[in-house]
Amino acid sequence: MNVPPQPELASTVLSVCREKGHLSGQDMETIARSLHIPTSLVYGFCSQFPEFTRPPGRPLLRVCMGPACAAAEPDADMERAMSGLESRADVLRVAGLTWPHGSPTLAVRLPGEEERMVQGYRANQLEELAMNLDRKDLSAYPFPEAMAEYEVAGVDRGEMSPWLASLVGREPFLPPDAVAVREASRDPSPVYELLEGECVFPIPLPQSGPPEILVCDTVGPSTEGSVDLLVAQACPHVVAAGTVLAAAATGAKKVVFFVPWDRVELEADLRRAAEEGAAAADLEWEVFPGPTYIPCHREIGVAAFMQGMMLWRAASICGRDGPMRLHPPTLVCGASTLWKVPWVLGRGGGKEGWKERLTLLAVGPKGVTRWVELPPALSVAELVARLSDAVLNGGRARALYLEGKENRIYPEAADRVGIPYGTRRLVVLGEDTHIAGWARRMLSAAEEECCGGCTPGRTGPPAAASILDSAARGEKGEGMREVAIMLERAELLALCPQLLRTFSVVRECMEFFPEDFSFRSGGGEQTERMVSGSGNTHGMGGRR
Ligand code: SF4
Repeated sequence: MNVPPQPELASTVLSVCREKGHLSGQDMETIARSLHIPTSLVYGFCSQFPEFTRPPGRPLLRVCMGPACAAAEPDADMERAMSGLESRADVLRVAGLTWPHGSPTLAVRLPGEEERMVQGYRANQLEELAMNLDRKDLSAYPFPEAMAEYEVAGVDRGEMSPWLASLVGREPFLPPDAVAVREASRDPSPVYELLEGECVFPIPLPQSGPPEILVCDTVGPSTEGSVDLLVAQACPHVVAAGTVLAAAATGAKKVVFFVPWDRVELEADLRRAAEEGAAAADLEWEVFPGPTYIPCHREIGVAAFMQGMMLWRAASICGRDGPMRLHPPTLVCGASTLWKVPWVLGRGGGKEGWKERLTLLAVGPKGVTRWVELPPALSVAELVARLSDAVLNGGRARALYLEGKENRIYPEAADRVGIPYGTRRLVVLGEDTHIAGWARRMLSAAEEECCGGCTPGRTGPPAAASILDSAARGEKGEGMREVAIMLERAELLALCPQLLRTFSVVRECMEFFPEDFSFRSGGGEQTERMVSGSGNTHGMGGRR
């Protein structure tokens, strides 16, 4: 029996989802028959994406489990209110809600209606939501499109990078013409430097040869308040121009814009923008709608999905260093990196400015979010001073979480903070954050993100979470050293780097905040200080 390429299966599944809002078992069997493939293949494919298979007829709640929302500690009242909601709706915990939002946030939808957002909720608001669900009236909650646009903090207009200025509507933008495309292919070095700084490539770009396909990933490495999605929605024409110019620089024959399947407007905007830009470069292009939560490391997930392979299979073929040289050779870049390309090539000034200033979203302990521009390395005191007016509102930081190409946590006591290129967000964990509770919720998000294609990925997050739960209950169990070793082994044995992105942060939490983890050493009374083999120390300058 012939198996059609995966994109054909994906597009059929997505068109049913768009039409009906869900997929039933009957739908899966119909799809299997129409494509002449085994039903188990359709079930296996759909089971990787929880958003496809929710039952109809009941309200659906999607609770954000991303790092900023995880920092909002649920108390007993919140847990009681949430369990009241669970009896009225299907509750799906997701690794992150992609729309910009404050913390904590959940999305709610009545059958047949558009999704709405409940932002910055407390226990009493959840009780109110339960009553509104009973009344089948969610008109009090905004649609996601109405969520706040972020302001820029602490940057004078004269100092602002041109890409940030374009985002906040203060800079005109010139679409690429044939001259710009020729220039990009004649001297591609600035683009190589940017892509190598911001993305993860196992082989340096010039040595790896020209890719056949350049993918602009509009979700990026982190789903919670995705910066890549935010930028793609705000400036589709700049992102499309950057993608076209990056394709010209790297010699890619085709560009593909990977967009979440439920963002119909973004798909249309990118189509218009791509048509304009690609004509100048005489380039083949396509907009590819796919699942938002590819439960795998993004660069593996997107590339694998594009090339018609089951995600776990791609992970197992490509291993931990990613699939950059799969056939056909594919290069995956986040939209927020491609957004900078026109200026890195000197269009409208700003050439090389990306090295001196990093543009990222800073999220404060109360969910206040602003764009900031920072140098790549600075002392914690300097960083906290810069964030003070922007997002701290007089509060204090306990730790700083950096998210993007790699994820790191810095305790407030660290000397210096190194911000890797490719960092998308900086989340400030406030002085009252219980770091062990935050780490526990990060593990729950990792459970949601993993595709289940390897044993460490399938079993590591729930096993680590269960150990933390036992410790929180004061039960005798493994010590911190054993837990750290278990996490490190799981990272090493996993087929892709997805586990590393969460486990390394959990290990850092245990190392820097042992007082929050009530582990006992061998059943003794003294809290054990973890000595991790990770090599991380306070005050380091950051990995590059
Ligand atoms: S670590 Fe394993 S289970 Fe998790 S996403 Fe990667 S391949 Fe899938």
